Amino acid sequence: MRLDPLSMVYKVKVRLKHSHSIIWLFKRGRGLTGLKNLGNTCYMNSIIQCLNNTAILVTYFCNGQYLEHVNRSHSTRGAIAEELAAVVRALWSGQYRFIATKDLRNEVGKHQRTFRGSEQQDSHEFLTILMDWLHLDLQFSIKPPLKESLGASERAWHEYTRSRESLVLRLFYGQIRSTVRCTVCAASSATYDSFSNLSLELPPHAARCTLADCLKLYLNGETIPGWNCPTCKEKRDAVKKLDISRLPPVLVIHFKRFYLDAKDYMCNAYRKRQTYIDFPLEGLDMGQLALNCPANGYDLYAVSNHYGSMEGGHYTAYCKSSVYGKWYKYDDHLVTEISPSEVKSSAAYILFYTSCDRT
Ligand SMILES: [Zn+2]
Repeated sequence: MRLDPLSMVYKVKVRLKHSHSIIWLFKRGRGLTGLKNLGNTCYMNSIIQCLNNTAILVTYFCNGQYLEHVNRSHSTRGAIAEELAAVVRALWSGQYRFIATKDLRNEVGKHQRTFRGSEQQDSHEFLTILMDWLHLDLQFSIKPPLKESLGASERAWHEYTRSRESLVLRLFYGQIRSTVRCTVCAASSATYDSFSNLSLELPPHAARCTLADCLKLYLNGETIPGWNCPTCKEKRDAVKKLDISRLPPVLVIHFKRFYLDAKDYMCNAYRKRQTYIDFPLEGLDMGQLALNCPANGYDLYAVSNHYGSMEGGHYTAYCKSSVYGKWYKYDDHLVTEISPSEVKSSAAYILFYTSCDRT
C-alpha cells in the first residue's frame, strides 16, 4: 500500500468546507487575539501565533478532531497538545482582545527546564521541541506498508515513523538525504534524516542575501577529509551532499542568525547576524532543490521575528490571516494590521510556508 502523505491534509480541508463548527468559527472568531507577556515569553508567543495561523492545524484543534488522536503513552501524556488546543480555541473564540497562556507555559516548563523561568529563550529551539511533543501527543497507528515495495527514502521514513503518524508529522516533517561520495573511487553511501524545519546558515560577511542563496549554501557539497571509504578500504577525501528527499506540505525555514564568536570563544559570546534576507511572499519554487516539490510552490503565511541581541531581544510574529487575507503584526498582547511590504525585514528569523492552499 502506498501512503499519500497529503490524504489526511485533504480530509481536514474537506471538513473545513462542511463542518458547522468551522462556520461558527469564521463567523465569531477572528484569530486576531493577542498573547499576554508572562515575563520574557515573547519567544513562545511568537511561535504560538505562527502555529495559530496554520489553517489546517487550527481547523483540527477547533473542530475537536484532535480529541480522537490525543495519545497518553509518552512522557508529555497528551497534555501539551491539549493545552495548545485550548489556547488556539480561545484565540479563535472572538471573545478576547488578548489571553494569557499560563497553563500551556506551566505544562511546557514541566518537560523542559529552560522554558520554566522568566529568561529570554530561542523561539527556534522552542518550536523544534514543541513540534516533537505535538507529534508524540497526537500520534496514531497506521497500517505498516510492505517493506519490499519501498524505495530507500520511503523505507527510512517508515523506520523513523514506526507506523505511527500525526497531523503534525504529515504537515511539518520532511526528510533530508545525505550522500557521502569517495573522490577516488566514487563509491557513495546515503543516510536519511527527518526534519520539522530547515535550519540554514547565512553567507558570512554579506549584508544582504536571498533565501535562494541560503538554500544553495545548505545543499552545496562540502569536503570531508579522511573518510573511511568502504570500497577503497582507506581514508579518502569525500564530498558530502545534502538533498531534500521529502518536502512537507508546510515548510518551516530557520535562519541561523546566532553564532558563537570565535574571538570570544572563551566567554561563550553569541553574536547575531543582522543580514537582510530577501524571500518570496508567494510562489517559493523548490523544484530545483527537492525531489518532490509541490507543483505550485509555497506561499509565506507566517514569520517569527527577532529584534536586538541574544541577551536582550524581543520576538514578534507577522502572520497572514486565512480569513481576511491580510497581514497582521502580533506583538505580545497587541495585534495590528501591517502592509505586505513590511513583512520582509532583517528581523525575519523563522519563515512558515504552505503549499496547502495553492491548487
Ligand atoms: Zn573510495
